Amino acid sequence: MTNDTWGLIKAELATRVGNNNYVTWIEPLHMRGLEAGVAHFDVPTSFFANWVQRNFSEQILGHLNSRGHEVSRVEFSVLTPAHPVSGAARTNSAVNRPAPRIGRLRSAVSDEPLPGAALDGRFTFDTFVVGKPNELAYAAARRVAEAGPVTFNPLFLYGGVGLGKTHLMHAIAHELQARQPHLRVLYLSAEQFMYRFVRALREQQIMDFKEIFRSVDVLMVDDVQFIAGKDSTQEEFFHTFNALVDQNKQIVISADRAPGEIKGLEDRIQSRLQCGLVVDLHPTDYELRLGILQKKAEVYRQQYKDLKIAPGVIEFLAHRITTNVRVLEGALTRLFAFASLVGREISLELTQDCLADILRASDRKLTIEEIQRKVAEHYNIRLSDMIGPKRLRNIARPRQVAMYLAKQLTPRSLPEIGRRFGGRDHTTIMHGVRKIEELMSTDSQLNDDLLLLRRLLQG
Ligand code: ADP
Ligand code: MG
Repeated sequence: MTNDTWGLIKAELATRVGNNNYVTWIEPLHMRGLEAGVAHFDVPTSFFANWVQRNFSEQILGHLNSRGHEVSRVEFSVLTPAHPVSGAARTNSAVNRPAPRIGRLRSAVSDEPLPGAALDGRFTFDTFVVGKPNELAYAAARRVAEAGPVTFNPLFLYGGVGLGKTHLMHAIAHELQARQPHLRVLYLSAEQFMYRFVRALREQQIMDFKEIFRSVDVLMVDDVQFIAGKDSTQEEFFHTFNALVDQNKQIVISADRAPGEIKGLEDRIQSRLQCGLVVDLHPTDYELRLGILQKKAEVYRQQYKDLKIAPGVIEFLAHRITTNVRVLEGALTRLFAFASLVGREISLELTQDCLADILRASDRKLTIEEIQRKVAEHYNIRLSDMIGPKRLRNIARPRQVAMYLAKQLTPRSLPEIGRRFGGRDHTTIMHGVRKIEELMSTDSQLNDDLLLLRRLLQG
């Protein structure tokens, strides 16, 4: 078949799939040839391939066959590696990566692109590694992505930085668009929501703003803690939220903490956010980190075919870098880039050299002072009261919480902890620790506090 024929077929497809779909998915397809009933195309990424396969392969086959080519299958080869090595942080990488043309979600209903944020083509369910700490969040995200009847609204995902919230949200968006291209899916950060809102106010286009946000089928707002304290934005968010829930439209929200823990967020919004399913992503455990590293290393191994990686290196990293997945990924990227530059095997020694700074930072020990500061902040008391002599319950209890966490999270002895709490006796510390342990069995608020504080301190 000649390229002219493919050109003709493309033109036919253009009239069938709509302009946006054509520009995004069909135009970039490069036909390599036909062989034994299989049509071969070059595509920029594997995600692109999946999408076209799911959504357009039937139509492509139909057109090929109606022009007399006996084709039963389409196959795609990915032209450029989907995982370019770059030192840039992932958050910026969308800018300097040769992005496939899937940047923005487009709606098939209206020709206007929705004013959403760019989606990262690599943040799919396929590339998400599931483990104990994130299995619930993953399952809930999967459920939403099925686009069945809305069973919980909103889905509220929360957890520390770099644990996969944004990844899961993008995965939902990709999956929804692949399954149901007609759905209007809008993903954006709370910051972008505010920015659009403020601009609409300024340009007196608030009606347009409202209409756009009320006409989507699925709304996803990332990092919603950002709008805390921003009153008019909160107000607008609340109305948008309610309007969509009333229409039974799915909403997905993420934040760095549970709805009730977001200071400066109106009560009515907090309680609205709690109405659906609230799931948290826990800090990674060793198995999950190992799984993620293995998956990423596999990708790099294919890219740097002649690089060897010594046994034990991956395990070493999973063991030593416990902060978050973003740091883990950055470490691996740097390691492979470095090893390929110097042309050496990735040994344990090279790893320690190359990642000295990251390993040192991960080693950082939590101090008693940090614990005191965070606990004081959390309970809204003065740091000086934490250490001082006051015995009022609303001060004594947080103090005991700090003592308990100091015992749990640092290797310090009771007398050492006592010294840091204004020279208290070790028996006082022991009493404080016991008191908290005792209360934990009955006081669920206290348990929530401890969970959050641990997360903040260890995240
Ligand atoms: P958050 O939004 O929670 O701060 P991100 O979703 O941006 O975190 O994740 C940070 C990085 O870690 C991303 O590159 C993401 O792909 C990766 N990541 C996080 N969790 C996982 C996971 N379970 N499997 C694979 N990659 C993950
Ligand atoms: Mg995020």
